[in-house]
Amino acid sequence: MKNYIKHHPWHIIEEGFTPTVNRVSESIFSIGNGKFGQRANFEENYSGDTLQGNYVAGVYYPDKTRVGWWKNGYPEYFAKVLNAPNWIGLDIKINGISLDLAKCEVLEFSRKLDMQKGILYRSFKAKNENGITITANAERYCSLANTHLGVLKYSFSLDKKAELEILSYVDGTIQNEDSNYNEKFWNDVRSKSEDNRSVLICETKKTAFQVGILASTQINQNGQNVEWKDTADKKKYASVYTQFSINKDDLITIEKRAITLSSLDYDKAAIDSALHKIFSEIEKKSFEDLSYSHAEAWSKKWNESDIIIEGDISAQQAIRFNIFQLNCTYSGEDERLNIGPKGFTGEKYGGSTYWDTEAYCLPFYQATADSHVARNLLIYRHKHLDRAIENAQKLGFKNGAALYPMVTMNGEECHNEWEITFEEIHRNGAIAYAIYDYINYTGEQVYLAKYGLEVLIGIARFWAQRVNWSYNKNKFVMLGVTGPNEFENNVNNNWYTNKMAAWCLDYCRDSLVWVKENHPNDYERILAKTNLSIEEVTKWNSISENMYYPYSKEHGVYLQQDGFLDKELIPVSELPATERPIVEHWSWDRILRSCYIKQADTLQGIYFFEDEFSDEEIKRHFDFYEPLTVHESSLSPCVHSVLAAKLGDEKRAYEFYLRTARLDLDDYNNDTRDGLHITSMAGTWLSIVKGFAGMRVNNGEVSFKPFLPEKWASFSFKIRFRDTLMHIRVDKAGLHIAEPANNH
Ligand code: BGC
Repeated sequence: MKNYIKHHPWHIIEEGFTPTVNRVSESIFSIGNGKFGQRANFEENYSGDTLQGNYVAGVYYPDKTRVGWWKNGYPEYFAKVLNAPNWIGLDIKINGISLDLAKCEVLEFSRKLDMQKGILYRSFKAKNENGITITANAERYCSLANTHLGVLKYSFSLDKKAELEILSYVDGTIQNEDSNYNEKFWNDVRSKSEDNRSVLICETKKTAFQVGILASTQINQNGQNVEWKDTADKKKYASVYTQFSINKDDLITIEKRAITLSSLDYDKAAIDSALHKIFSEIEKKSFEDLSYSHAEAWSKKWNESDIIIEGDISAQQAIRFNIFQLNCTYSGEDERLNIGPKGFTGEKYGGSTYWDTEAYCLPFYQATADSHVARNLLIYRHKHLDRAIENAQKLGFKNGAALYPMVTMNGEECHNEWEITFEEIHRNGAIAYAIYDYINYTGEQVYLAKYGLEVLIGIARFWAQRVNWSYNKNKFVMLGVTGPNEFENNVNNNWYTNKMAAWCLDYCRDSLVWVKENHPNDYERILAKTNLSIEEVTKWNSISENMYYPYSKEHGVYLQQDGFLDKELIPVSELPATERPIVEHWSWDRILRSCYIKQADTLQGIYFFEDEFSDEEIKRHFDFYEPLTVHESSLSPCVHSVLAAKLGDEKRAYEFYLRTARLDLDDYNNDTRDGLHITSMAGTWLSIVKGFAGMRVNNGEVSFKPFLPEKWASFSFKIRFRDTLMHIRVDKAGLHIAEPANNH
């Protein structure tokens, strides 16, 4: 079932209970606060199809690598984002039978995510197996005002008198679905319940991260407090229990507050006391006060990052959904954290850092938050430089060459498919490009002297060693790579990778000159630390000047890689719909031999370096490659949308925008059940801001070249640009920039 989400400018709404899409909804209605987050699981027991998912930022498990055939250089483990202890659990027994919607006749059901306030609501009316009908309303959130706090309120009444048993628990017995050896990843440290509180502390195996949760639950019956009668703690599970009689129409209200902490922020020995201390700070506050502070924090976020679209509710809902989820995933206050492709909404992809962060996400955070937020994304990579150097050494590179990982949690590579781990090295280019992008946007060139240059040197050294001189071509070539288009592996001279490499070498050289002139002390420090020689830089120049780029005179385009024209170039439009997506219908070898492109590859390079190409050249490349592109990566449509907008092809820009914007809401790729495509959500923002508004930053100035999609009456957004919060509005009369205000 698709397209079941009701359209609304601020709310995501599901009406009616459809167990077959429950996992999809659990993903879509996910909530988070940058520190922890969760899928929209039910508070009460549910025996139907569900992925219980709670995630704590930065807490991972190194799951021992599992491959068919071991290759030297593979990492020992894949860092899995961990399904963490669940704090929302309530077991509600009515006359001895647990409430479980999978076993009830569900008479009414709705789920609503209020994105403006960051609150998830659910209400239902269901007839239990013993014929008693329960009417319930639940709301919960991960507080943005206090990022340790999760709150839920669960109210219900019954249509008959009954005996009620309620168990409020914190559960660490969870198991990752995504696990190589079906192991449990958590050890018990302590589980203790007393009065209305349960404290659970668990520790990850191998990495020894501790996560502690203190949950406090209050029950009211018609406004009167109900006492807890017992506790039922066991290993990795802490709970409080009560039992009482309830009359028809009595209103039962359960309020649960949970503090979540991890050893990333607290000494292990101090977790228990910190849980109590932080809890004591909010203990006396009313539910309304806590919710108010949370909604206020969201209102501030929206004030900086909202995009308002008039005239198209579906597009409005979609862009807000993308922005909401990006803000749930990363808040930028901690340089050890990053943006996993699934954020806090699922387990797939390991939850680690990919090139997505630099290539797609950075511009969103750069323009919608204080500059330290985007800066922390860069610092994250700076801190991992030594590990990137070790990673390159492991593969045979030397002299400080750095290869950043394809996937990482802590700087170590944890991806293990040779064609990606060893070959998808273009990621190094995106990391260097992000430094350029950040400085270009913020004007903070000193970043180069303090942090950026060292990273650029490591990356430049890698490229200089990765190319080789071809006597045949009389050029430098790069053999055995995988470009962004993962439907081609082990190709020679992927244009995008060669281009990125040459650009990195030039940018590093220019940055050296700038730092030498402007920050001589840093220059000396960096030279001493890296042992960089003039000969190396001379070699870089020679490589970039003599880099080989495959080109077709006949088509007037750079070729994605050597030999691309040997393929049968049959447009995607001629593929039978029954064979799409090809990744699900074709064998891998057939995909590799075909001309079909998973995501922007040559066009990704043109998107980064658009100023080097005339519109005519860009159009030629677009018209050549797009018809061969299947867009089977969620990261593909956004780049095409921005380029189509640049070319003035408003219709196509809009079509590509729609594909990226409602990707998860409409489950476009049939995989939302695994979690949301968080990193491609930043691409949706790019489609509007860089695409429709045509925003560009050059030489310290921001410019716009807007168009208004036909269906829209207007769109407006705010961007922070160099200490100014700019209000941009595009309507039928054109673009309006409100008086710049230093009001952030
Ligand atoms: C894409 C990669 C991306 C990864 C994580 C893959 O499907 O091809 O470019 O880094 O997903 O989002």
